[in-house]
Amino acid sequence: MADDIRQVQHFIDGRFVDAADGATFTSVSPIDNQVIATVAEGGASEVDRAVAAARAAFDDWSWMDPAERRSILYRIADGIDARQDELAAWETRDMGKPITAARTKDMPRSATNFRFFADWAEQVATETYAKPWDGVLSYTLREPLGVVGSISPWNFPLMLLTWKVAPALAFGCTVVAKPAEQSPITAGILAEICDEAGLPPGVFNLVHGFGPDSAGEAITRHPAIDAVTFTGESNTGRAIMEAAAPTMKRLSFEMGGRSANIVCADADLDEAVAGALRGIFVNQGEVCLAGSRLLVQRPVYDEFVARFVEGAEAWQVGNPLEESTQMGPLVSAEHLDKVLGYIDLAQEEGAKLLTGGHRITDGDLAQGNYLAPTVFAEATNEMRCVREEIFGPVEMILPFDEVDEAIAIANDSPFGLAGMVWTENLHTAHRVAREVKTGTMWVNCFFVRDLRAPFGGYKSSGLGREGGDHSYDFFTEAKAVVMKLK
Ligand code: NAD
Repeated sequence: MADDIRQVQHFIDGRFVDAADGATFTSVSPIDNQVIATVAEGGASEVDRAVAAARAAFDDWSWMDPAERRSILYRIADGIDARQDELAAWETRDMGKPITAARTKDMPRSATNFRFFADWAEQVATETYAKPWDGVLSYTLREPLGVVGSISPWNFPLMLLTWKVAPALAFGCTVVAKPAEQSPITAGILAEICDEAGLPPGVFNLVHGFGPDSAGEAITRHPAIDAVTFTGESNTGRAIMEAAAPTMKRLSFEMGGRSANIVCADADLDEAVAGALRGIFVNQGEVCLAGSRLLVQRPVYDEFVARFVEGAEAWQVGNPLEESTQMGPLVSAEHLDKVLGYIDLAQEEGAKLLTGGHRITDGDLAQGNYLAPTVFAEATNEMRCVREEIFGPVEMILPFDEVDEAIAIANDSPFGLAGMVWTENLHTAHRVAREVKTGTMWVNCFFVRDLRAPFGGYKSSGLGREGGDHSYDFFTEAKAVVMKLK
């Protein structure tokens, strides 16, 4: 193997360690399918050691003055900022997202996750209920929940890992985290940053590995883990729920989606076209929140579709390490095959391919997992290619006549993660926002987040909410103290 192959170890009890049995796996770059890292492969025994360390660290960490915890978490955020270019380059090499997005979006947001929750935890208040006429005062004590297992996916590796780890630490929990096996490198760098920032040993532990019969499953079954916060596929969520049942863990799931993007005839079409393109092609369409069912009202259907296809064809696909690239390769050859399988299925089911639908193999791109931005029309909501999550740069366009019909189509889905509506009519905007059963509804925008707002999904898209006080609820126990007043 080449010298520049990175070695990624577990981080347990403040030390970088290999697997007890020396097992490793490799991480392959989707840019050229070459190995870029050798990664320690953990299982039940590494999770055991990590949990023991997290338990031992819990009392000191949970009782630490929040201001002191805050300053450590701020140092971690500063460390992410200081190594932003390095982190972004590894993220891009590991999972294929354009370097500009990794540097200007994912890394700053990862640092913000720490600062935001550090501040929140220091300032948050609890409720008091006074009932002087009955002579009692009730107040709420918030106690850190305990040891939290974090299991995260590959599409926003560091950003989603820190979305879980930062609030858990800020609210006084200790953590055993398992990043996705496809993209473990930046999690390893985060462990270095935590170490340098003076995070006490055992507070944040990182165990690499796979899901079933591996580190992921071991976390979900471990009796001394109090909660699991998971982001990934809905079927994985089902498996985790079953595995966690015997030990009654608290669970928070952020899962798959097939969100409707509703373009009304009165929309600002320039903005709607630009928003819809971003809504499906950003991050190679590997976005849980993607607007992957594009519903367009008939009076503007032909014009909108023509402009959308033109935009798809102009979307810059290329090596994600180049600054001008808008779309890199899909995360793995296996995932590319899955997405190509859905493209075949869409054609068998009768949808009409308007553009794309094939691998890009020009020059060096032949070595990687590149797919042309793909657009289908004449799709119906009954088709499997419309109902199931494809998780790639494949848009399905469906026409509608009345807004009622668009709402019904949006709701006729096993998922309910996000949605968008483009309209200049205030009443339509409020109505659609209220009636679509989904965790986040964007009106005339996409992908904008306020970390105070609830984040999660309806139906198979999620369980519970995170963000602001919702994360506070998840990572703490609320105790009612009822005191008799004399
Ligand atoms: P995945 O479910 O295959 O894997 C996610 C994580 O779970 C990985 O770390 C994996 O190793 C682990 N895992 C897999 N099986 C497990 C098991 N049985 N027990 C314990 N851990 C297990 O998902 P993925 O392919 O990495 O990510 C893509 C999916 O994530 C898509 O469905 C996408 O919509 C979803 N996602 C959702 C959100 C959200 O916020 N709702 C955000 C990003 C991605």
